[in-house]
Amino acid sequence: MAISKIPETPVPQANLDDVSLETLAVRAGQIRSPELEHSEAIFPTSSFVFNSAKEAAARFGGEEPGNIYARFTNPTVAMFEKRIAALEGGDRAVAAASGMAAILSTFMALLEQGDHIVCSKGVFGTTRVLLQKYLCKFGIEVSFVSLTDYDQWQSSVQPNTRLLFLETPSNPLCEVVDVPRIAEISRQAPHAKGALLVVDNCFCTPVLQRPLDLGADIVVHSATKYLDGQGRCLGGVVVGSTEVMEEVHGFMRSAGPAMSPFNAWVFLKGLETLNIRMKAHSESALAVAQWLETQEAVEKVYYSFLPSHPHYELAKRQQKLGSGVLSFEIKGGQEAAWRFIDGVEFISITANLGDTKSTITHPATTTHGRLSAEDKLDSGIVDNLIRLSVGLEGVEDIIADLKRGLASAKSAS
Ligand SMILES: *Cc1c(COP(=O)(O)O)cnc(C)c1O
Repeated sequence: MAISKIPETPVPQANLDDVSLETLAVRAGQIRSPELEHSEAIFPTSSFVFNSAKEAAARFGGEEPGNIYARFTNPTVAMFEKRIAALEGGDRAVAAASGMAAILSTFMALLEQGDHIVCSKGVFGTTRVLLQKYLCKFGIEVSFVSLTDYDQWQSSVQPNTRLLFLETPSNPLCEVVDVPRIAEISRQAPHAKGALLVVDNCFCTPVLQRPLDLGADIVVHSATKYLDGQGRCLGGVVVGSTEVMEEVHGFMRSAGPAMSPFNAWVFLKGLETLNIRMKAHSESALAVAQWLETQEAVEKVYYSFLPSHPHYELAKRQQKLGSGVLSFEIKGGQEAAWRFIDGVEFISITANLGDTKSTITHPATTTHGRLSAEDKLDSGIVDNLIRLSVGLEGVEDIIADLKRGLASAKSAS
């Protein structure tokens, strides 16, 4: 008995050569099944069947493409991978169960014992933990550098440097690094296999910045943030050349942190609105940043699309718009900062960001609480710093809520 199966290209698929990013976000990667569903289908299956023993052998032997087992590939996950690869302008993407799984898989696939990483200090805290606490157990060395100290990047490259890793804009101070300049340092690195520049593009997404166009080799994402943007699922993805992604996929299929088909479907739907969401986040964040700058009780605002930010010109050159995340210092130290946070009504007190719902955090005692006093000082994480991820509520309502925060901060001082 022949088992009916879903062929690779069962129905004519749309031609998406030379279309805009907006169109790719909605259309790229979709493969329709013979049912001709309009929206992408979810394939909640752990394994796939073969028409014959011979076909099974050919699939396992790699002579014939196709699905075998969902830890290796799944059609819904593959649609998400194709869509994000198209948006980032990479050959191929590999999805993972979370942003950290994507980052870990990149490290595990590409590094060998004795290799070295140069990493910017201000990266996501758990990325730092992964490097400092776990990868070092396997003989991987790491040097942390200040994101925008180009001499330090240059002088930290060693003969065994295989990866350079950064996030731009940084969290929470919105510092921006010149990606082409770091890419040049990476290209000159002497490692026998060459060094690769990895950019965590979580804050900008491909709508605002495409690191591969700027010279990076690999992009990683926590899809949990803006790609979903609605706080529903954990996920991650790595994008790069066919050759490098083959390595990353090899690790992923052996180690198992695969993305679930349901989550992939949620992310596909998230990508369809990514353009309009990012533009709205950005527009509101700029309005909030401008308003904060006029407030007497606010000492400093960090948002790279404000002319007062030291990296304003570079940010304008490298990013289409600013992201939705900003931070500011309030007069009155930690107590005032906490009173501010306790004074807002609907803005969520949570460490998450990149959501339709605005969120507020006190970095010094939460996301960056584990840093030593020296590292905090070094990274500008002062006690009166507040981070805001501007959501999609009405901007006048967000500002009204921040006014409640300001009133509360002032009340007991
Ligand atoms: C959240 C985050 C991660 C980790 O992603 P998870 O999906 O939570 O594992 C990595 N990098 C950045 C910049 C993040 O904000």
